[in-house]
Amino acid sequence: NVQGESQFDVIVVGSGAGAMTSALVAADNGLSVLVVEKSDKYGGTSSISGGGIWIPNNHHFAAKGGKDSYDKALQYLKAATGGVVPETRLRAYLDNAPKMIRHLEAKSRVRYAVAEKYPDYYQHLAGSLPGGRTLDPELFDTSVLGDELPHLRQGAPSNLLMGRIAWTARQAHKAMSREFGWRFMVLGLMLRFKLDFKWRRKSKFDRRAALGTALIASLRRSLQDRKVPLWLKTEFRELVVDGGRVCGVRVVREGREVEIRARRGVIFGSGGFEQNQTLRERYLPQPTQAGWSATPPGNNMGAALEAGIAAGAATALLDKAWWAPTIRVPKEEKPRGVFAERAFPGAIVVNGRGKRFVNEAAPYLEFVEAMYKDQQASGAKSIPAWVVFDASFRFNYAMGPLMPAQIMPDSRLRKEWLGTVYWKAPTLAELAAQIGVDPLGLEETARKMNEYARTGVDSEFMRGGNVFDRYYGDTNVKPNPCLAPVQKGPFYAMRLDAGDIGTKGGLLTNEHAQVVREDGLPIPGLYAVGNCSAAVMGLGYPGAGATLGPAMTFGYVAANHIAAAA
Ligand code: FAD
Repeated sequence: NVQGESQFDVIVVGSGAGAMTSALVAADNGLSVLVVEKSDKYGGTSSISGGGIWIPNNHHFAAKGGKDSYDKALQYLKAATGGVVPETRLRAYLDNAPKMIRHLEAKSRVRYAVAEKYPDYYQHLAGSLPGGRTLDPELFDTSVLGDELPHLRQGAPSNLLMGRIAWTARQAHKAMSREFGWRFMVLGLMLRFKLDFKWRRKSKFDRRAALGTALIASLRRSLQDRKVPLWLKTEFRELVVDGGRVCGVRVVREGREVEIRARRGVIFGSGGFEQNQTLRERYLPQPTQAGWSATPPGNNMGAALEAGIAAGAATALLDKAWWAPTIRVPKEEKPRGVFAERAFPGAIVVNGRGKRFVNEAAPYLEFVEAMYKDQQASGAKSIPAWVVFDASFRFNYAMGPLMPAQIMPDSRLRKEWLGTVYWKAPTLAELAAQIGVDPLGLEETARKMNEYARTGVDSEFMRGGNVFDRYYGDTNVKPNPCLAPVQKGPFYAMRLDAGDIGTKGGLLTNEHAQVVREDGLPIPGLYAVGNCSAAVMGLGYPGAGATLGPAMTFGYVAANHIAAAA
């Protein structure tokens, strides 16, 4: 069955941001490339993500007069990754990330802008910056995708203003933290959307994609420009190995098994194993559920991990994930990540004893790690944990799918959400009884928080004590933008699961993105990028965009390495 288009220089497995970047750069090096994607949609988790990329020393920040340096970034990265990643890989990242984004912006339709105020996640570590390393995708006009538009994996409506209108992460942040001028900005976005009469006749959604969907749409269109084929509904099954060298793949394409040869290399960009319950139970801390993951159901089952291991690859970090607490909403295909709302003033997170166990505004990875740690150490039930807030919070801020009551009062919420998405009671004690939390513990916790809100100092967890916490605080709230009392009934609770936005362990790679064996030698012809490879970020999550930044950077590295090899 080897026929027709059965040989390429490079075969890329998966169609997330890392995979597509590697395909694009391979094509720019004059190589013939095929992208295979098992789903009927391209883009993977990358397409439903925020699309942010963490790129130290990027040209956008420099152009705005921002100050960063290689040495500072290296110092930070070494500390943030926890000492488990060889310096050669960290340096490969810092060397290539700024080049990768320059290449994309010079040669393709991908466009980014700097999120100057988005701080690195670990402000206590030397070398961190209070902003400037995270880049945020510009909006992208999807009408240029033509026939490929229906196959684009769309982000959740929750990524869009009013579920329809595209906005950048910078604009969303301005509205969420109610910065000066946010109302005018929102009105402007709504007006521009309404006036696009031509597109309104075709679709109820904005013609422009935002966030990760904008990134994927721009990459896809750039591959179209290069005539790089992308086969949907084509599932990678096995590697073809000849004399120790990877020289192709076996895929199932629309029900038929096909062998495709790769003259120069195979690049895995097929995501982690977060959707595979068996592998989760084998590797991740317990309890664990694929259903808690905010990633597209059924996509990332760890195919590259298993094929790589079969080919002799070493692995690392398999017990780690890009953790993020999630909220499940009936009828939605996957849970929603709770990234920002935990920092809003007046929301507290408690375990079964009604006690706080973490700085609610902490980075999402550390937040879920704290859930596991608390459950193991204290014996209290912290998985799930509960986020609790009062009527003032409810009026002013969003939490998961609940928009602020000033926009969407309880009477307009879906009936079936009461008791599934949120719980509500006139007193904290009654609320605690509903959700199975110790009432006295919860009341005591609220009392403490009310005191912290008054003084501005959370003496237990130092919430709001640094610029990262305050990024999602409310600038109008004084003295601490992340602290407000929990005192005005009715009271609300929502359930937080120990979710993720992908796993971070996988095939071990070197500084060229080559998959290596236990002895450190590369498996000839095999590369891995993104979440199927063990993360260059090691134990940490240094800043917003620390998963996609490396996926794309090592995609760039892998393609250039293949092109340079004789
Ligand atoms: P994916 O993007 O998931 O791509 C893998 C693709 O491979 C999928 O399309 C899958 O169907 C395909 N595939 C799997 N198995 C096979 C097979 N056997 N054969 C063929 N194809 C296969 N990270 C950031 O850095 N910045 C952010 O702003 C950000 N925001 C996020 C917001 C949300 C709501 C979520 C859920 C995640 C976010 N993340 C963010 C995390 C980030 O999206 C993921 O870590 C990243 O997309 C993983 O990229 P990947 O290329 O490894 O996998």
